[in-house]
Amino acid sequence: LIFLGIESSCDDTAAAIVAGDRRILSSVVSSQTALHADFGGVVPEIAARAHAERLDLAVEQALAEAGLGLRDLSGVAVTAGPGLIGGVMAGVMCAKGIAAGTGLPLIGVNHLAGHALTPRLTDATPFPYLMLLVSGGHCQFLRVEGPRAFTRLGGTIDDAPGEAFDKLARLLALPQPGGPSVEAEAAGGDADRFDLPRPLLDRPGCDLSFSGLKTAALRLRDRLVEEQGGLRSRDRRDLCAAFQAAVAEVLAEKARRALDRAPVPVLAVAGGVAANRAVRGALEQVAKAAGAAFLAPPLRLCTDNGAMIAWAGIELFRLGQRDGMDLAARPRWPLDGRAAPMLGSGR
Ligand code: ATP
Ligand code: FE
Repeated sequence: LIFLGIESSCDDTAAAIVAGDRRILSSVVSSQTALHADFGGVVPEIAARAHAERLDLAVEQALAEAGLGLRDLSGVAVTAGPGLIGGVMAGVMCAKGIAAGTGLPLIGVNHLAGHALTPRLTDATPFPYLMLLVSGGHCQFLRVEGPRAFTRLGGTIDDAPGEAFDKLARLLALPQPGGPSVEAEAAGGDADRFDLPRPLLDRPGCDLSFSGLKTAALRLRDRLVEEQGGLRSRDRRDLCAAFQAAVAEVLAEKARRALDRAPVPVLAVAGGVAANRAVRGALEQVAKAAGAAFLAPPLRLCTDNGAMIAWAGIELFRLGQRDGMDLAARPRWPLDGRAAPMLGSGR
């Protein structure tokens, strides 16, 4: 089997070619970060237009790098949601065009399922395992039981941690994306100087919250500015260290509970925040204490990419899924089996 995977649900235009034996033959990611830089966030209209302009080229490039033509493919997989609807539509149209022109099977993939199935692409991880999806737009614990069987054990009730890192960076006038900037600052800081809250730790279960943490950091910054007339670089470092420690501690404690509630042999992470070494370290310890292995795929496969979509497409194809020209682009598409009994179009 050889699948083309297309991803355009946020601000990365991506296409990749993946084989059924888990070989990634090519993976092209065209980031739109520069296009949105002046706006302090992703602008949906700009993103949709850029996807529409770049998708064909990304697909061509993915095929060229793999040294293959369309006739060598066994199927086309595409993110059909959740995400910014304009971008998802552009990707779905592109995939439909290819499928219609070649007669190849079309497979609609849930973006979150793409992330959640990545440990099977990178390490052939058997089901079930626990996945912490932790990015700029998402934060949830999923028990992954099959290519379309997910149980959501908990998740954020407000912001995602990546978003919180980005906001903290903005508060402190550090460069975007905020996660790497905050991590770099935190490396030289004292995490114990400031006392930041650990939201929802006192509540049972695996839900998380990050907006209170962000507000606490804002108040702390304002107090320091008022008291000292400005922020010293040491304040910035200590604030970043305290913030990162709070995020890592909360994620680790909730992961501990998730493993306790539904023991599995592997704890895996995906999403941009999984790049953070403090977060990784804390999760690794939790996994070890629970007797589970800790798995963090390489960063290029943790953030948005086409390879995870191609791979999820292969898994769903093997289960018999085939989508028609009526495959819909869905802005919202929860993964949880209870909320959405069928993934894909259900066919
Ligand atoms: P999604 O894919 O969920 O729709 P997204 O595209 O924002 O959202 P990713 O590309 O997976 O998500 O991750 C980007 C986020 O990860 C950003 O918010 C960024 O600040 C954060 N991030 C990246 N590196 C680090 C790091 N070292 N520490 C903390 N956060 C990080
Ligand atoms: Fe994503």
